[in-house]
Amino acid sequence: MPEITIIGAGLAGAEAAWQAAERGAAVKLIEMRPEKKSPVHHSGDFAELVCSNSLRAVNIENAVGLLKEEMRRCRSLIMTSADQHRVPAGGALAVDREGFAHTITEKIENHPRITVMRQETQTIPGEGIVILASGPLTSAPLAREIGKFLGTDYLYFHDAVAPIVTLASVNQEIVFRASRYGKGEDDYLNCPMTEEEYDRFYEALINGEVHAAHEFEQENEHIENEQIEQIKNEQAEKIENEQHEQHEQLNHDINGYEPIKAGVKEKYFEGCMPVEEMARRGRKTLAFGPLKPVGLTDPRTGKRPYAVVQLRQDNAAATLYNLVGFQTHLRWDEQRRIFSMIPGLAEAEFVRYGVMHRNTYINSPQVLLPTLQSKKDPRIFFAGQITGVEGYVESAAAGLVAGINGTRLIHNREPVIFPRESALGSLCHYITTGEGKDFQPMNINFGIMPSLEKRIRDKKEKNRQLAERSLAALEQFIKVNQLTTD
Ligand code: FAD
Repeated sequence: MPEITIIGAGLAGAEAAWQAAERGAAVKLIEMRPEKKSPVHHSGDFAELVCSNSLRAVNIENAVGLLKEEMRRCRSLIMTSADQHRVPAGGALAVDREGFAHTITEKIENHPRITVMRQETQTIPGEGIVILASGPLTSAPLAREIGKFLGTDYLYFHDAVAPIVTLASVNQEIVFRASRYGKGEDDYLNCPMTEEEYDRFYEALINGEVHAAHEFEQENEHIENEQIEQIKNEQAEKIENEQHEQHEQLNHDINGYEPIKAGVKEKYFEGCMPVEEMARRGRKTLAFGPLKPVGLTDPRTGKRPYAVVQLRQDNAAATLYNLVGFQTHLRWDEQRRIFSMIPGLAEAEFVRYGVMHRNTYINSPQVLLPTLQSKKDPRIFFAGQITGVEGYVESAAAGLVAGINGTRLIHNREPVIFPRESALGSLCHYITTGEGKDFQPMNINFGIMPSLEKRIRDKKEKNRQLAERSLAALEQFIKVNQLTTD
């Protein structure tokens, strides 16, 4: 008889299973892939990275670097595997996505206390501890059950995935290797643009044809359109009035984008905004954003280009590169046409195009405790992106907390609330407190952590001190609560 049932073996579910099993619990991990695929997952491996291969900044003066370090100190499987499969990416921790996911899958499948079941779960198990970690693309039947269980609204928005090209198809006579300000080992391939090239590209981009949201769903046969429509309709009724104003504003902001249905908001998370939407904000927005040329000199001209598209290594063999910041919902033929205008990519071979996707998350401030248990039934935990954390690392971090706390319940110990000074604690605090009226997903950042007692002007120094304080608080917390696994 499993003591903990975990639904979904993504970033959160894999980490939760590992934490629970390593701490002595018998775990049943249920994953629907490869039997049933999501629109964005490609394999049957656990913890598949569905878009970028970067787990973001390394250094602890950056909040996500700190979060990763805290996870290492809690013996995170995701972090062990990420460190093992690291590929060059300047100041970021990028990984060979296949090696990363294989290692995690292998370690979980071979763990003596974990039983893996490959099937879709359509209902929430009625007994035992349950961790729901089914992610932003939770299958529709389960999403409906979660909706019924929580009795609260779902919030939906759409993000987009960046395309990947083969290195062999990139014109090496045009692009140059370099990292901004010489950081790292010339890890990026840079496509330099003159002002004229930029203008032509910009015009094509803002006029490119995008997928209508419903088309995306038609293209992805694995999404159960009817069920999703039903959820959307239920949701639409409830949110229509209170969100009317925001909806108007949003339609205005994303000029030209077809809404799914009157009353249902299309929301873009800033960190994953489609490149064409960002471009529509103004002619220079991209040149000051993802295409900024600062810290880069084109060796062929000895000058800083007007704008630069950066390509980042995507696999260990360094044969594939992704277009940094180019999440998009342009149609695939349009992507080929428009992105081929980027200097160096005229003959580019696209091995993966950007695609639209759905994101499902719950109103955590209303329904979850900081231990990640549901307020309604403390044996049911939520973990990962579905809780409203945003990002691979944050999702795994939520899995880590749920895995630890689920195991504590089994051992008749109180679940723990991670210290507020730590990044782990602040993330749980952010998603589970507040009114929840307009709850927005959040990446970890120092802004959601308590500030230092004394004011420090130098940002780097301030962040260093915040990080030191976090790690000290976490170490003490691990000791007091006997959270070490060895
Ligand atoms: P997932 O990793 O999606 O895992 C959930 C698992 O549950 C999946 O394996 C799924 O197959 C399974 N599942 C779903 N329903 C059921 C069911 N009923 N029964 C059994 N199993 C089920 N974050 C970043 O940091 N960087 C990015 O570049 C990035 N890009 C993204 C691109 C897309 C298209 C999406 C959707 C999200 C992206 N995110 C990104 C956000 C987020 O960090 C990832 O989605 C992350 O994988 C979330 O982790 P998770 O464990 O919560 O969900």
